[in-house]
Amino acid sequence: MTAQLIDGNALARQIRADVSGRTAALKARGIQPTLAIVLVGDDPASQVYVKHKVNDSSETGLVANLERYPADMAEADLLARIHALNDDPAVHGILVQLPLPKHMDSHQVIEAISPAKDVDGFHVASAGALMVGQPGFWPCTPHGCMKMLESIGYDLRGKHAVVIGRSNIVGKPMAMMLLAQNATVTICHSATADLGAMTRQADVVVAAVGKVNLLTADMVKPGAVVIDVGMNRNAEGKLCGDVDFAGVKEVAGWITPVPGGVGPMTRAMLLANTLEAAERAAG
Ligand code: NAP
Repeated sequence: MTAQLIDGNALARQIRADVSGRTAALKARGIQPTLAIVLVGDDPASQVYVKHKVNDSSETGLVANLERYPADMAEADLLARIHALNDDPAVHGILVQLPLPKHMDSHQVIEAISPAKDVDGFHVASAGALMVGQPGFWPCTPHGCMKMLESIGYDLRGKHAVVIGRSNIVGKPMAMMLLAQNATVTICHSATADLGAMTRQADVVVAAVGKVNLLTADMVKPGAVVIDVGMNRNAEGKLCGDVDFAGVKEVAGWITPVPGGVGPMTRAMLLANTLEAAERAAG
């Protein structure tokens, strides 16, 4: 079998087009959807990520205001700035780029963001809303993965989904989203005794670990959907995921590539969440 590709670039383009249209509609009502991006320090990877976020926003008609602060900023000053952004009705979404400098408590900083503006979906209130099936903001990466499953018309009811990785921003919310669609969900992690025994039973595998070739062809049930969240560099320095793409595509029914899979979807879902925040505020 040669798997069909789930093209994250193409799907992200569709999502951005939808965001553009809805943004134009809000603007026609005099509302400019606006995202505040807060960057503290000069982490090189973070600088690249925020640049993408600003460019993606402007391409879809959103305004992204990037605020840069020095690495030695006091945590109290950052918290005060977040409170001011919470109170600013012209700002609909707030994103604090992680990681923060070591002297700051990231959890406390994220908790300072109003849940109504938590477009990254990292606030405990957002996680809780997802857990109990209430409206809130879903973290962008697993949300993007769900959109990919939706795009192929995949019915999760009664299917067995295996999520590898249990981080608060990918693995755990991914599992909750799959569960909400009536899948039977298994979460695997570093202490899982026999990962292959789990994944071989799965109709859907989501790999979110950060390890090259974690998932190989012998670990995949024929016809399964394989979603690769991993972002790694291989021995040649090329971007790759957690899945041995060349091998697994011969066994899986559907597969996401890296690059061009979950990455562009994550970026697109931030725009969708920001627009959603503006629409909710507009009523
Ligand atoms: P993380 O916080 O480091 O979590 C990694 C998870 O993998 C942990 O739950 C860990 O288990 C588990 N794990 C480690 N080794 C394992 C093994 N041998 N077998 C099974 N599970 C194992 O990472 P993350 O933030 O969730 O990110 C995961 C990957 O996704 C990274 O490559 C990251 O770069 C990528 N990512 C991509 C995007 C995107 O837009 N494409 C967005 C976010 C993240 P324990 O909990 O037991 O330690």
